[in-house]
Amino acid sequence: MNVKIPRGTQDILPEQVKLWQWIEDKVRHITKKYRYEEIRTPIFEHTEIFQRGVGDTTDIVQKEMYSFQDRGGRDLTLRPEGTASVVRSFVENKMFGHPNQPIKLYYMGPMFRYERPQSGRYRQFVQFGVEALGSADPAIDAEVIALALEIYQTVGLKNLNLVINSLGDIESRLKHREALINHFKPRIGEFCKDCQSRLEKNPLRILDCKVDREHELMKTAPSILDYLNEESQEYFAKVRQYLDQLGVEYTVDPTLVRGLDYYNQTTFEIMSSAPGFGAITTLCGGGRYNGLVEEFGGPETPGIGFALSIERLIAAMEAEQVEVAFDDQLDFYIVALGDKAKDYSVKLLADLRNNGFSADRDYLDRKMKAQLKSANRLNAKYTIIIGEDELEKGEVQVKNMESGEQKEVKLAEFIDVVQKWSNRKEK
Ligand code: ATP
Ligand code: MG
Repeated sequence: MNVKIPRGTQDILPEQVKLWQWIEDKVRHITKKYRYEEIRTPIFEHTEIFQRGVGDTTDIVQKEMYSFQDRGGRDLTLRPEGTASVVRSFVENKMFGHPNQPIKLYYMGPMFRYERPQSGRYRQFVQFGVEALGSADPAIDAEVIALALEIYQTVGLKNLNLVINSLGDIESRLKHREALINHFKPRIGEFCKDCQSRLEKNPLRILDCKVDREHELMKTAPSILDYLNEESQEYFAKVRQYLDQLGVEYTVDPTLVRGLDYYNQTTFEIMSSAPGFGAITTLCGGGRYNGLVEEFGGPETPGIGFALSIERLIAAMEAEQVEVAFDDQLDFYIVALGDKAKDYSVKLLADLRNNGFSADRDYLDRKMKAQLKSANRLNAKYTIIIGEDELEKGEVQVKNMESGEQKEVKLAEFIDVVQKWSNRKEK
């Protein structure tokens, strides 16, 4: 039996889960402010969904999918990304007919890609992403970018670079496509197999190749920005204007083409420039994908979104040594000594919890000193000490662990006193 965790996956242990939940809370809070609503789609879909939605010429579809046949002979794939599923659901549930447009959605959950594991690259990782469907207003491009940036800023990151580009509309892309083919064709033999197959299918993807990145033709390739028609230029100018208005800094990089085949107009990435952050610096990527909804059989609907992984966000926090203060204090720890006191603590523990407090006790029959140590380790605000004597007198000792102050409280009044603390807490 192989009792090791599968390659490229990780256990997130309780200590680390605290950080994850803290991040998830921040993310959900921000989505609320921007009015994006959560959607939960299945972990697996028909393989076709990704072949179409992500595109045949992408790394994801060509070599990274976890695909399998189920017992009914269906071709299924563990989702490698979120956009295709969201768009499938948008069409299937006819969200285009909903009165509130655009439809603003977000998702957060595990994605699966058969990749070569390395720092910041896992085979199972958690993506958070948003999709705004139904508006072609450049202001929503700026909103989506601002939301992504706000997440990184809110978790305390400072070394961030936003890079943007425009791929133009279909007309501009087609002209640029021709120029790219002319540029690469005579020497395509010098490029990798993937690039050779990309030449006719989607030459733009050659610019995103990780193998031939340093080839001289890459540097002299025709820039999409020279092929933008007037409409696309205006659109891009508006996006930049809105970012300027928001005080968001960015650089324009005409080589930023992104993975999806269906991207057009705005594309963007946020990178970490933190010293010590690994070779992979991209934290988040997104862009506009007008045309994708139609690909799934829906009506013409513009869309824009981005995705980030929590793993890379955490890696960036580690590189910048961001300190997080968790609110995970324990309200009460009960130290019970002797059988009667232990019996009594069962009910007391329940009363405390019923009054909204977090409470815990010793379950290993340890000595007083060891129990007090536990209370300290668990970061308890108060320790309640119950012994036989106290029980006979009908009282307990309550120790404020911060000040060290200790006082007796009558058992009969105990819950009343606790409730007063509770009211104070709610204020
Ligand atoms: P890369 O160029 O690093 O492979 P990508 O273009 O495949 O990235 P996207 O598909 O755009 O990435 O996914 C969006 C974000 O998801 C990335 O910016 C990154 O933060 C994260 N991500 C992608 N693949 C992984 C992975 N294998 N492990 C962890 N995070 C990932
Ligand atoms: Mg990738």
